Amino acid sequence: MTNVETTDATGLGEIEVGAARINVDDKRMINARADVNQLLPMKYTWAWEKYLAGCNNHWMPTEVAMQADIALWKSKDGLTEDERQMLKRNLGFFATAESLVANNIVLAVYRQITNPECRQYLLRQAFEEAVHTHTFQYICESLGLVEGELFNMYREVPSISDKDAWALKYTQHLEDPDFKTGTPEADTAFLRDLVAFYVIFEGMWFYTGFAQILSLGRRNKMVGIAEQYQYILRDESIHLNFGIDCINQIKIENPHLWTPEFQEEVRGMLKEACELEVKYARDTMPRGMLGLSAQLCEQYMHFITDRRAQQIGLQPIFGETENPFPWMSEAMDLKKEKNFFETRVIEYQSGGALDWD
Ligand code: FE
Ligand code: MN
Repeated sequence: MTNVETTDATGLGEIEVGAARINVDDKRMINARADVNQLLPMKYTWAWEKYLAGCNNHWMPTEVAMQADIALWKSKDGLTEDERQMLKRNLGFFATAESLVANNIVLAVYRQITNPECRQYLLRQAFEEAVHTHTFQYICESLGLVEGELFNMYREVPSISDKDAWALKYTQHLEDPDFKTGTPEADTAFLRDLVAFYVIFEGMWFYTGFAQILSLGRRNKMVGIAEQYQYILRDESIHLNFGIDCINQIKIENPHLWTPEFQEEVRGMLKEACELEVKYARDTMPRGMLGLSAQLCEQYMHFITDRRAQQIGLQPIFGETENPFPWMSEAMDLKKEKNFFETRVIEYQSGGALDWD
């Protein structure tokens, strides 16, 4: 008996009673012939390792004390007007960004990935996105922010709407119930969505925001939020690396998709996305603060964009070799930073042995 060609990408079709045991070589990222319900034998150990790393990094926002943040936020001159404005816009961006990312995973990506070990990671990631959205609910409640102002910001502040609208156009195509991979056009559309959400949304657009909040934390301001952002950053670095591994594996299995034209298109996407992020940096910090300026953020974003291009096998776009915020790498080492922030940390286990930048 041999495995039949399967078109059951969901895993919810009729059981093929009596079908042969699966051959690990039939496992594929997309358009697999192997049954998507069988985790073992495992093919992509990188996906499983990320699932385990995500579980080891478990945290909840409510474990972080917010008293110092509340006191500073309510005190008259604890923060400058510029710092308040930046913080609100930063929180406003993330409050719905986490939801957009979660919806893309659950409603678009999960259906198209035909591999159980990758789906296992996606299930973990989806939960982490829920924890991240929970973080913004918890911050909103703790500081007594106006709920509608925070959560409606992506429909009110153009530099936020522009980024979200740009990414959404890549997932809108995929969430059509009739969308199916299996043609070069559809498979390419799926790769575009992975680039837009994993490489750009989670891998570029979160980073100005991380730098802003961690800069506050380094100056002993809003230390609870800064600690929560460190946990989010640790999670996001695994999300990003998972997305990069997915893209590179799909390229290996489907070299016909990675044409010179498509590579140029992806470089164009990265460049456009970088410009949107630079606008967002200007809009959130028109005057510069906390050792940050829109200009340094632009250099940082050029550096990050080139790094992302390289991670998916593309030539650099800006040629920026200097990272103006080297301290961002140190911020990932939570053990080292723990006493610095002087807030309560529950260590589930030290994870984070993965590259995160
Ligand atoms: Fe997230
Ligand atoms: Mn994420």
